Amino acid sequence: MAQIRVENLRKEFSGFTAVQNSSFIVEDGDFFVMLGPSGCGKTTTLRMIAGLELPTSGRILLGGEDVTMKRARERDIAFVFQLFALYPHMNVRKNIGFPLLAQGTPRSEIRARVDEVAKLLRIDHILEKPVSGLAGGDRQRVALGRAIVRRPMCFLMDEPLGTLDAEFRDLMVHELRELHNRIGATTVYVTHDQLEAMSMADKIAVMNHGIIEQFGSPREIYDRPRTMYVADFMGSPPMNFLNFHSGLARGSESVSVRGADIVVPRINEDRAPADLALGIRPEHIRLDDGAKLRGEVLGAEYLGTTQIVVVETGEGRLKARIPASDHVTVGENVGLALNSPHLSLFDKSTGRAIETALYEGGAHG
Ligand code: ATP
Repeated sequence: MAQIRVENLRKEFSGFTAVQNSSFIVEDGDFFVMLGPSGCGKTTTLRMIAGLELPTSGRILLGGEDVTMKRARERDIAFVFQLFALYPHMNVRKNIGFPLLAQGTPRSEIRARVDEVAKLLRIDHILEKPVSGLAGGDRQRVALGRAIVRRPMCFLMDEPLGTLDAEFRDLMVHELRELHNRIGATTVYVTHDQLEAMSMADKIAVMNHGIIEQFGSPREIYDRPRTMYVADFMGSPPMNFLNFHSGLARGSESVSVRGADIVVPRINEDRAPADLALGIRPEHIRLDDGAKLRGEVLGAEYLGTTQIVVVETGEGRLKARIPASDHVTVGENVGLALNSPHLSLFDKSTGRAIETALYEGGAHG
């Protein structure tokens, strides 16, 4: 297994830049997820790592070796596609063993390695069955088995669960992560689904228009988004934003945003931009009769243990995730308290997070 190092990777397709100067390191044994909406450059990045697409510029190193100019088959990687084409006329055993047969591996070794992989994937009971009659989850396991059996340096997966129904998806997310824990192979996984990313990844890169907006652990990305884009892309509902002018924040940790006292992280004064957005996740807002920030309840979405309440305040519309047991009625005027250690500040003109006293001091929880 190996580290993957990507340096200033760029890809242009006849003048259109699909990937712009990406740099990141996937540490040996990490499960790394590239996350972003359709067209943001995830697959193109993955295809360059695989050797299926040549970069316009930049370098790719696998296990310390520069493979930028090497063909796919000269790189020791396994690629699991979304619609992995299994050989329909072969049984499960032959499908899994095929890459080894193609490499000229002796038959006895192929048999032993296929048995081992099938056990790992818990499909040893269907080894002799034809793949044509298999359900989606089992087909995907066979596809994974075919990738694992070669013991490559790393795995590349492009939306491998995209075609499965929701129930199988949840199961496979769990299985993939468990499998990763067992074999510890460096993995690059592409998805547009934030829940898949959050539940599987050691590290996530959130991409937008060919740019990596943020690279970090799921917790860093969710709790400390570096851009408004990431704050908005992650979370359901996403982070709320309240607009205000930085003059209000200077020299103080407590500001009055048009009458509502909100304690904000103190900004480094020489860097304080004029127009700011205060970001707060729905779960860090609670109902508080005494709060000065008030608004009218527009609606409530009951979710079982919690509910999402939409409140129109003078500062903008906020969504709060509150206990389902809290009683709210549409049209009611409620007070909202924001959990200050969980506030983020953004420069509205650039969309970037601002370093604050609390943030730099690590006081945010
Ligand atoms: P999706 O999940 O829809 O595949 P993605 O994030 O993986 O999205 P890419 O497939 O990497 O995005 O595509 C990034 C951009 O590059 C898109 O605008 C796409 O149209 C463009 N693109 C990809 N491949 C080519 C190509 N061979 N020729 C021209 N443009 C391309």
